[in-house]
Amino acid sequence: MSVFRIEHLSKSFGELTVLKDITTTIEKGEIISIIGPSGTGKSTLLRCLNLLEMPSGGRIFFNDLDLLARTTNITKIRQRIGMVFQSFNLYNHLSVLDNLTLGPVKLLRKSKAEAELKAMELLKLVGLAEKAASFPDELSGGQKQRVAIARCLAMEPEVILFDEPTSALDPTMTSEVLAVIRRLAKEGMTMVIVTHEMEIARNISTRVFYMDEGFIYEEGTPQQIFENPQREKTREFINRVRRYTYRITSKDYDLYAMNAEIEAFCEKHLLSRRICHNVLLLAEEVLGLQRDFSDITLSLAYSEKDDRLEFIFESAGEPANPLEEGEREDDLGIILIKSRCDSIQYKYENGKNILLCGVKG
Ligand code: ADP
Ligand code: MG
Repeated sequence: MSVFRIEHLSKSFGELTVLKDITTTIEKGEIISIIGPSGTGKSTLLRCLNLLEMPSGGRIFFNDLDLLARTTNITKIRQRIGMVFQSFNLYNHLSVLDNLTLGPVKLLRKSKAEAELKAMELLKLVGLAEKAASFPDELSGGQKQRVAIARCLAMEPEVILFDEPTSALDPTMTSEVLAVIRRLAKEGMTMVIVTHEMEIARNISTRVFYMDEGFIYEEGTPQQIFENPQREKTREFINRVRRYTYRITSKDYDLYAMNAEIEAFCEKHLLSRRICHNVLLLAEEVLGLQRDFSDITLSLAYSEKDDRLEFIFESAGEPANPLEEGEREDDLGIILIKSRCDSIQYKYENGKNILLCGVKG
């Protein structure tokens, strides 16, 4: 029996049709990640699954129960479908423990003692037993999200829907939350996760939905979607998430912001500290050789297949290889650049000097 069976689901907001025709099934124990450009209806699909949004057409079955049937008690059903939001949605006036016991006491009619026992067990599971008496305001974002997950588990759901659970978090907090999600995956929890986190999509989920144009445009195993996407838009999206671009248009560009973004890109793709360090150094040295800052694009492209990071530096202007300018040949900067790459290629194309560097790991 499937956990969810979705048939020709559609959803419009007035004139705007967001979901055109979604048909799929989600089996017990599956971990589905939903990826795709923003605005393509990923959250809407998730919210339709527990009727936080009313579908405009089609049918949804939860354990063979027709969610849209008049006789279905949706409040009851919703208790079995957990939901975790980007913004945590904790009750700020309640302690962590009370956040976890409220639902079980009110809705599952558990005794306070029983609910507290279970809550402490769950707080241990997410590493926050120590914080039982704290209030949400006293916690970091990562801790809040782990409390939100524990609160969700306290209702003993059969499936958990996550809507970008880590997108409000910085990288260290993201990994705290990923560790908890990974643990739930190991325990066989059925999960549907809308995410920009490729770590989830690639390494935790069992199946990936790529959404575009109001449909599940392509679905497959993480390996199929990431290494061998079949359709054009999927391919474009996958290439895009693997690529980072920074534009510079004046000498006063924000070096710190650029470096922080490069580091975030490296983290996201689980690249080693060493590669990250080499890229930062490369960027600094290449920019150090530059005189004209009016039109520069700096990109990183990661190829998972070859586990290789390419650094691409483009600057508009007359042809001039920055690495071969007469007396600058033995410039310390040039030596440093060369020592951080295992390949360097220069070309001039469409009015742009382009350096392609394979970054050393
Ligand atoms: P995603 O999660 O993929 O970024 P959403 O499902 O949030 O996309 O939104 C898809 C589209 O539906 C967007 O254009 C958004 O503005 C619109 N939308 C979402 N919720 C509502 C709503 N309650 N009322 C009107 N439009 C909405
Ligand atoms: Mg969304």
